[in-house]
Amino acid sequence: MDFRARQKKLREHLAITRFDALLISHLPNIRYMCGFTGSAGFLLVQEDSSVFFTDVRYDTQARTEVKGAKVVIARKALLPAVGEWISASRRRSRHPWTLGVEPEHTTIGEKQRLGETLASGIRVKSASPIVERARMVKDEDELKRIRAAVQLGASLFERARQVLRAGVKESEVAAEMEYAARRGGAEEMSFATIIASGARSALPHGRASEQAIPAGAFVVCDFGVILHGYCSDRTRTVWVGEPEEEARRAYEAVREAQQAAIDVVKPGIAAGDVDAAARNVLRKAGLGRYFSHSTGHGVGLEIHEGPRVAAGQKEVLQPGMVITIEPGVYFPGKWGVRIEDMVAVTRQGCEVLTPTGKDFLAIQSS
Ligand code: ZN
Ligand code: ZN
Repeated sequence: MDFRARQKKLREHLAITRFDALLISHLPNIRYMCGFTGSAGFLLVQEDSSVFFTDVRYDTQARTEVKGAKVVIARKALLPAVGEWISASRRRSRHPWTLGVEPEHTTIGEKQRLGETLASGIRVKSASPIVERARMVKDEDELKRIRAAVQLGASLFERARQVLRAGVKESEVAAEMEYAARRGGAEEMSFATIIASGARSALPHGRASEQAIPAGAFVVCDFGVILHGYCSDRTRTVWVGEPEEEARRAYEAVREAQQAAIDVVKPGIAAGDVDAAARNVLRKAGLGRYFSHSTGHGVGLEIHEGPRVAAGQKEVLQPGMVITIEPGVYFPGKWGVRIEDMVAVTRQGCEVLTPTGKDFLAIQSS
């Protein structure tokens, strides 16, 4: 990871804005900018240098991980220490100075506390989500890590298929998958594994529960791992028991919608148009109103990041963006189906990262 290049780019951006420095507080943004993987820290990127602040617990780790920034270990509460350090460093300057903070990741309390410790002449203002914008487009190193996470994540479904059958608890299936993930090197799951069976499959976010999987309905399996910091995300839906015609039809419609969305992904197209492609297919199949969520989201250091693949989103796709395509239909009280893959936008179109098939799959109940 070329952290210095990322900081240089941010500096170039700061040079053309009204900000003299940016205080980064969101941990994934800090990791992206300087490599620190711990749970407490602030990265100050100024026009001519960067400083990383953390507490004594991370003394050794920060000195090993942080690249392109001087490390300062705070001997008191972190944020006041940051404020005092900035004030001291600006002591001899008479020019007004504007410090940007990340509005989505700075609480009102933090902004106040920072303001209280900063010397007069230093203003604190909300900056735009500059780092998030940079993170939307992945470089080669990131794509490599994402591919590895996707491969490991995809293999978990094979484990699920070995244990998933009527009568087995959803949580047991999730446990087997999560054990396989850790055995395969995952740092953690990218979110709480979703195994939603029976009527629970109509909940778009049905975390694995104690419920025993019934026959005569779908099981939505939505899962992912974090490997070397990067997330994977994938959904496969299987039928348990004797397949029903209506279920097959819904499944095929979702699959067709997903393919239609994948087919339009290319540089220059708006994210909202990808959503529309999936939505149109389901609308034509008479299932439009059962597709209750957006088509997808960006994935990287975080499981949900930009761009949003939703109705009306104007963000234009660029090579290097990695998004999910995950249409679904949900019939409350009955069942639901979703199919999700991750795709990387390439120069010509896109590459589906998730390697395995998605034919209708029925698991016999006995
Ligand atoms: Zn998912
Ligand atoms: Zn997703």
